[in-house]
Amino acid sequence: MASAFRLAARRQSIPVQIGPVTVGGDAPVVVQSMTNTDTADVESTVRQVAALARAGSELVRITVDREESAAAVPHIRERLDAAGVDVPLVGDFHYIGHKLLTDYPACAEALAKYRINPGNVGFREKRDRQFATMIEVAMQYDKPVRIGVNWGSLDQEVLARMMDANSKAASPKSGDEITNEAMVVSAVESAQLAEELGLPANRIILSCKVSAVQSLIAVYGDLAARCNYALHLGLTEAGMGSKGIVASTAALAVLLQQGIGDTIRVSLTPEPGGDRAQEVIVAQQILQTMGLRSFMPLVTACPGCGRTTSTLFQKLAGEIQDYIRDRMPVWATTFEGVETMNVAVMGCIVNGPGESKHADIGISLPGTGEDPAAPVFIDGRKAMTLRGPNLASDFRGIVEDYVEK
Ligand code: SF4
Repeated sequence: MASAFRLAARRQSIPVQIGPVTVGGDAPVVVQSMTNTDTADVESTVRQVAALARAGSELVRITVDREESAAAVPHIRERLDAAGVDVPLVGDFHYIGHKLLTDYPACAEALAKYRINPGNVGFREKRDRQFATMIEVAMQYDKPVRIGVNWGSLDQEVLARMMDANSKAASPKSGDEITNEAMVVSAVESAQLAEELGLPANRIILSCKVSAVQSLIAVYGDLAARCNYALHLGLTEAGMGSKGIVASTAALAVLLQQGIGDTIRVSLTPEPGGDRAQEVIVAQQILQTMGLRSFMPLVTACPGCGRTTSTLFQKLAGEIQDYIRDRMPVWATTFEGVETMNVAVMGCIVNGPGESKHADIGISLPGTGEDPAAPVFIDGRKAMTLRGPNLASDFRGIVEDYVEK
């Protein structure tokens, strides 16, 4: 039966080409991430970019904060190319981006996109001159830019102008409303200035990041209505662990449901020594669970309850998920846009057979007191019953055979 719930039509945006990746237009919503290495450390940065790309990041941003970083960028690009990692690199510039891009032409060339924060390019006439320099470099090297506004570094001149106008308004808005509006105005005015300088609209992506879920939804709703530039979504400083994942998912899901967003980044604070690729996995899972993209087969597992006394099914579900994750790059490239494969690992016969029949492959493990047998369903039909101590490895083998075929 068709679902009564549907995604809103995708907002029409101007597609932007970033190396081989298209952001906006009819292109799938792109997953991107950012390194946390010192870019001047070529070895560590190459390793992390490659890991993020392997996890499925389609664009990777690196900070270019000083001369040593700018000098390292072409070497990072060369090393990645030599290793067959062709993920486009985005340079994140603040304060001295104009200088780094002009003094290090090999850096300007090696990057596939420049991120410009209009709140961090200088003040007054310096700001316009330095912003113009970055746009001119982008035009010279035929690169797109992201004009990325962040409420932690909002252009104070735009904010002051809007607060002044608000103080004279008949019905003044709240401070939060003015801040949100100032972010949108800063992004749109900067994009218009870039166009006036000669950068075409199909070289411009916008973002307005905040760290509060409701503000992000309000800001992007406003931004989407005011322009047709491609939009980069992300909740900034989302936080650690489940808090960061839940907050990012809540904010991005609402916007994506409204058809807003052409590329997403999930900004998670990793545990010390934690896996940076986690943010890529979460971004993919957001898109996949919303039915926007297919990255990997889905594993459906029941939560378990008093009917399961062993941890066999949790262990098996985890192993199947890991196996699929290892195979993910193959799926990401081969199965893009194809309906997702679904594997069900269920704890007992209560919901096991029913859920398994709806999956491509499903197993219903024996719960407490049940016959120690596990029926396996393939393509909706019972294919066999597994028994004995090798049940888990037998099922893994069945999944592997199915994936191979
Ligand atoms: Fe419990 Fe069985 Fe339902 Fe799993 S399928 S949650 S084990 S009743």
